[in-house]
Amino acid sequence: MEELHTKWEVYSPATGEKIAELDETPLESIPHLYTKSRQAFQTWSKLPIKERLQYLKRLRLLMVNKMDEIAEVISKDTGKVKIEALVADIMPTIDAIKHIEKHAMKALSRQKVSTPLMLIGKKSYIDYMPRGTVLVISPWNYPLQLAMVPILNALAGGNTVIAKPSEVTPLVGMCIDNLFHEAGFPEGTVQFAHGGKDLGASLTEQKPDYIFFTGSVRTGKIIGEVAAKQLIPSTLELGGKDPMIVLRDANLERAVNGALWGAFTNSGQVCMSVERIYVERPVYKEFLSLLKEKANSLKQGTRLTDDIGSMTFPAQIDIVAGHLEDALNKGAILESGTSPNDWKTGQTYFIPPTILSNVNHSMKIMKEETFGPVLPVVPFDTEEEVVRLANDTEYGLNSSVWTKDTVKANRVASQLVTGAVTINDVLITVANHYLPFGGTKQSGIGRYHGEQGMRIFCHEKAIMKDNGKKNSEIQWYPYEGKYTKFLSLFQHYFSEKTNWIQFGKEYLQLIKISKEKRK
Ligand code: ADP
Repeated sequence: MEELHTKWEVYSPATGEKIAELDETPLESIPHLYTKSRQAFQTWSKLPIKERLQYLKRLRLLMVNKMDEIAEVISKDTGKVKIEALVADIMPTIDAIKHIEKHAMKALSRQKVSTPLMLIGKKSYIDYMPRGTVLVISPWNYPLQLAMVPILNALAGGNTVIAKPSEVTPLVGMCIDNLFHEAGFPEGTVQFAHGGKDLGASLTEQKPDYIFFTGSVRTGKIIGEVAAKQLIPSTLELGGKDPMIVLRDANLERAVNGALWGAFTNSGQVCMSVERIYVERPVYKEFLSLLKEKANSLKQGTRLTDDIGSMTFPAQIDIVAGHLEDALNKGAILESGTSPNDWKTGQTYFIPPTILSNVNHSMKIMKEETFGPVLPVVPFDTEEEVVRLANDTEYGLNSSVWTKDTVKANRVASQLVTGAVTINDVLITVANHYLPFGGTKQSGIGRYHGEQGMRIFCHEKAIMKDNGKKNSEIQWYPYEGKYTKFLSLFQHYFSEKTNWIQFGKEYLQLIKISKEKRK
């Protein structure tokens, strides 16, 4: 940690109790962070991948030992129930480390690629070169995973990292900082700046070599602009308004259970959560009544027996209330939950799981990201109609299709303009590190996870090697006498059926001319 000042009081959103007093990283220390990062890069980038992975392994084992402790910190800081901290934040992070340990060597080592016949005698390779200092700015909803996964991928690629975790969940930020420290990463390899927007903005202005941002569309656009002005490559992982499409032949019980979890896990504060459901009319009533019944049996609180925790960020409550009020004013029917006036949010921030019917696309609840435990349900009649409605949004992160008919599932899935589609499931693509993760439209730019998740933090260097024995190449100077030969060579090579005899003749002629002309 750098020199610190300003005391920072942290309260648990679920209990209202003060849980910590912390210090912010002063803005003045930012240049120093960058200097240290650039120095550390000189050594870290040169370590063999195998040695870098040893540090990641140490971190993994440390996290396995401290799993319960970390879950406690996340739960306190975010208000989410502890099981969600464990299953949806800690586990995917540790799994990401395991994935990197297994695949980094292959993904980041020199790759041999083919060389076309025209370049006969040469060999071609791609090298993955670390970029330098990677800036990772992360949000509060999955504060461990969304900070650590990009940090770890960047480190594996030989970069050094400066990370700014969300100011809304600073205890988790400190916890991550301590974990890297305890795992023994070399000084300056991964550094943390603890603080808010101003700190984030100042960090982006110091010319990092890559920016990896996860957060709101609004901030993503600001960061994208800063990055564009400096030509800094970046990944932007932003919001979603994910549709769930239930066809008449779906396993309704599973679809209802999936909808509940997809919409209400983490109090709906999930970029990939189910934010709207379209149900084919013949099963709409049955679906809605089962959904209401099951929603009413969910327990809210912070005990291990509870299902839904609190909201994490007080300001988010106003957005959710705004969307709900707008819908209710325009005729939406409250099927479960209460109107915002009856929410008991004072010191603590619980919003009851809320289901709405009689909704349409003139309402914010159907078009803008709500990021809360509110679920609008709409009947539809045709596949064409539901695809149009599902795509009627500025976002395109995730979506789901529920049916027993594989042909129908694939047909609908192929028409959804989203970065991922789950079939008879929700959210879960994010848990498979072999799959790319990212959005279309306003949901972001870029993908990570998997091999590409490591490679985005490297610039690809094309290498082509000649054995250096020939004194010249046919396309080098002088050109005299070569034009018609090249013309004939290309015509024979690229025509419908390659004339290999003629091709060989022209090629040898060109070599001969090259040799003669050089004399
Ligand atoms: P969310 O509400 O989902 O956390 P935000 O976009 O507000 O989304 O914040 C995500 C992260 O971006 C946080 O760490 C926040 O401090 C940081 N941040 C906010 N504004 C800026 C900015 N202008 N420049 C850099 N980082 C910022």
